[in-house]
Formats: sequence, C-alpha cells, structure tokens
Amino acid sequence: MVTVAVLVVAVAILIFVFYWSGRYGGRGTVTGTSLRRGPRAHTTSRGRPKVGYEKREEAEVHARLLSKRDGVLMNVYQCGECAKWHVGHGR
Ligand SMILES: [Zn+2]
Repeated sequence: MVTVAVLVVAVAILIFVFYWSGRYGGRGTVTGTSLRRGPRAHTTSRGRPKVGYEKREEAEVHARLLSKRDGVLMNVYQCGECAKWHVGHGR
C-alpha cells in the first residue's frame, strides 16, 4: 500500500505543477521568467524557440510590423545561442 500512496502523491505533485505553470507561466505575470531568461533570450516567455532571421534587416522589417500592429516598441538583437536575429520587446 505504501507504493500506491507514493504514486498518488507523485501524481498530485504533477497535477499541481501543471496547474501552477498553466496559471503563472502564461502572459501577465512574466516577471519571474523574464528575469531568469533575460531580455535577449533564444526562447519566448512560453519556452518555445523564437523565430530566427538570417539578416538584421529581415528582423527589423518584422519588428516594425509588430510595433505597428501591437503598438508596442519592438527591437532586434543577435542571439547568443543560434547567432540569428530575433525580435523582442524594446527596453
Ligand atoms: Zn536564437
């Protein structure tokens, strides 16, 4: 019976972690994650790889489009992980 109890606790922890990440990993409260990732990360706040552009000009064109569409200042930066150019929020 001890094994069953351990399993139940493990599943409960898993559900809790999923619930927690679903609630706090999304948009809105990104302060914690963005601090850990830094503003020039290879991944988005959702942990997925960002779109990489071979040329700075390509990224800048996209950044301008996003700035116009969302009304948020976007900037471009060269990634230290994939050496491509990513679009991120301006700081
Ligand atoms: Zn990258």
